[in-house]
Amino acid sequence: MRGSKPHRLITVDSRIEKLERHVQALMKELHQARYEQRREAFTDTLTGLGNRQALGNSFMEAQAATAKGAVPPALLLLNVDGFKALKNSAGHAAADQILVTVAMRIRSAVRENDVVTRLGGDEFAVLLPATPQSRAAAVGNRILAALEPNIDLGNNSIRCGASLGLRTAEPHHGIEDLLQEADLAMEESKTEGRNKLKVFDPATLHARQLRRQIVGELREAIRSDQLVLFYQPIVELSTGRIEGCEALVRWNHPAHGLIMPDQFIPVAEATGLIAELGRWVLRTAVGQLRQWRDNPATKQHDFSMRINVSAADLQSLDFVDDVGEALAEESLAPESLVLELTESAIIHNNELDRYTLASLHRLGVGLEIDDFGAGYSSMGYLRKLPVDRVKVDRQFVKDLGQDPSQLGFLAAIQEVIRSCGLEGVWEGIETAEQAEALRSIGCASGQGYYFGRPLPEVEFTEQLARQMVWPA
Ligand code: C2E
Ligand code: CA
Ligand code: CA
Repeated sequence: MRGSKPHRLITVDSRIEKLERHVQALMKELHQARYEQRREAFTDTLTGLGNRQALGNSFMEAQAATAKGAVPPALLLLNVDGFKALKNSAGHAAADQILVTVAMRIRSAVRENDVVTRLGGDEFAVLLPATPQSRAAAVGNRILAALEPNIDLGNNSIRCGASLGLRTAEPHHGIEDLLQEADLAMEESKTEGRNKLKVFDPATLHARQLRRQIVGELREAIRSDQLVLFYQPIVELSTGRIEGCEALVRWNHPAHGLIMPDQFIPVAEATGLIAELGRWVLRTAVGQLRQWRDNPATKQHDFSMRINVSAADLQSLDFVDDVGEALAEESLAPESLVLELTESAIIHNNELDRYTLASLHRLGVGLEIDDFGAGYSSMGYLRKLPVDRVKVDRQFVKDLGQDPSQLGFLAAIQEVIRSCGLEGVWEGIETAEQAEALRSIGCASGQGYYFGRPLPEVEFTEQLARQMVWPA
C-alpha cells in the first residue's frame, strides 16, 4: 500500500499533464480556427485583400488615433473604368483575372501599413492611416500609374484605367460618410473623363443636395398645380395676325416665387421627371386651346398651340399615344398642335426617335425644329426628317441691324429652309426694324418681345381677343 502511493501519484500527474496538453492543443486549434474564421470574415476571397468589414475596423482604429492627436486618415476610392463592358466582352474568368491584377498593382503602389480592400465588383478602397491630403493624392497618382501597363489575359491583353476619388477624414466622419464623399469625388472624376484622381469638394456635395431638394419639390409641384403655362404669340409677318402661340412653362414656387424653365427643366431632364412634366404641359396646353376655341372672342380655327418636347419624350413609347389621347379628349384636330423639338433632341437619330417622329407625323401633328442653327447647323438632315417647320435660333436675328451683311445671310438661311419644302419661324424679334427686315426677305412667321412677351393665360387671352395687328 505504502509503496503504491507515489506510483499512483505519478500516473495521475502524467494523465493530468497529458490531458492538459490535449486541452492546450485543442485550444490552439480552436484559436487557429477562430483566427481563420475571423480572417476569412475580413478577407475578399477573390483577391485576398481586406473587405468592407476590414476597412471599417481599420478606419475605427485610425479615427481613434486621430482623437488622440494623430493626422486623420485619407481614403482613396477606385473604380475600374468600363468594367461592365469589359466583363461582357471578355467573360467572367477574364474579369476575375483583371480584378486580381488590379488588386496586386494597387498593393504594390502603397506602403505596408496602408489598408487595401475590395468592397465588391470593381470597387476598391485604400485607407491611408495618418496621411495628409497632398501625400494621399501622390499615392493615388502612383496607383493610376501602376495600372497603366496592359493586363495580359493569355490570348489577348487589355488596357484598363481607373477613376479615383479622394477624401480625408473629418473628426465627425463615420466610415459610411467617408465612403459617400469619396464616392462623390470618384463620380466627378468619371464625368470629367476617367483615368483621373479627383479630390472631394464640398461645393459638389452642396450642389447635389440642392439638386435632390429641387427634384423632391418639383415632383410635388407637378402634382399640386404649382406649374403654370405662359403663352407667347407667333405672328404671321405679312399680315401681323397672331397665328399661334408657344406654351412656356414656369414654376410658381410657394417660397421662391416664379422660377424660369432654364432653372428646372435640365434637372427634370436629368432625373426622368421630364416625362411627367411633359405630360402635364401637353394636357394643360391642349385644354387651354379648347377653351380659346370655345370662347367666341378668341375662336380662330387655324390658330395653333406649340409645345416644347424634350429628347426623353421621343424615347418614350407612350408619348405618341399621350399626344393622340390629349387631342381626342378635347376634340381637336392634330394639326392644331405643333411640337417643337431641338436639333440636339432629334439628332440622336436612333431607331426609337425615328419611329416616334414617323408616328407623330402619321398622327398629323405639326413638327418643328427649334433653335435651328444653334448647335449642329447641319442642313443635311432637314430634308431627311419628317418635320414641316423650322424655328431659326434667335442669335441670327440678334445681329440684324448691326451688321449690314447679316440680312443677306438670313436670306440664304430662309432660302435653304424654303428649298427643303419647310416653313420658317424666326424667333427673338425685338424691334419693328427686325420684323420688317425679315418680312422683306419673305420670312413667313415671327416670335419675340416686339410682338409680345410670354404672358399668363388671362393676359394672353385679352391680347388674342384684341387680335392686335402689328404694322406690316
Ligand atoms: P425656347 O423654346 O427657345 O423658348 C424661347 C425662349 O426665348 C423663352 O424663354 C422666351 O421667353 C424667350 N424669348 C422669346 N422672345 C424673345 C426675345 O425677343 N428676346 C429674347 N432675348 N428672348 C425671347 P423661356 O420661357 O425662359 O424658356 C427657355 C427655354 O426653356 C425654352 O427655350 C425651352 O427650351 C425650355 N422650355 C420652356 N417651356 C418648356 C416646356 O414646357 N417643356 C420643355 N421641355 N422645355 C421648355
Ligand atoms: Ca421652343
Ligand atoms: Ca427656341
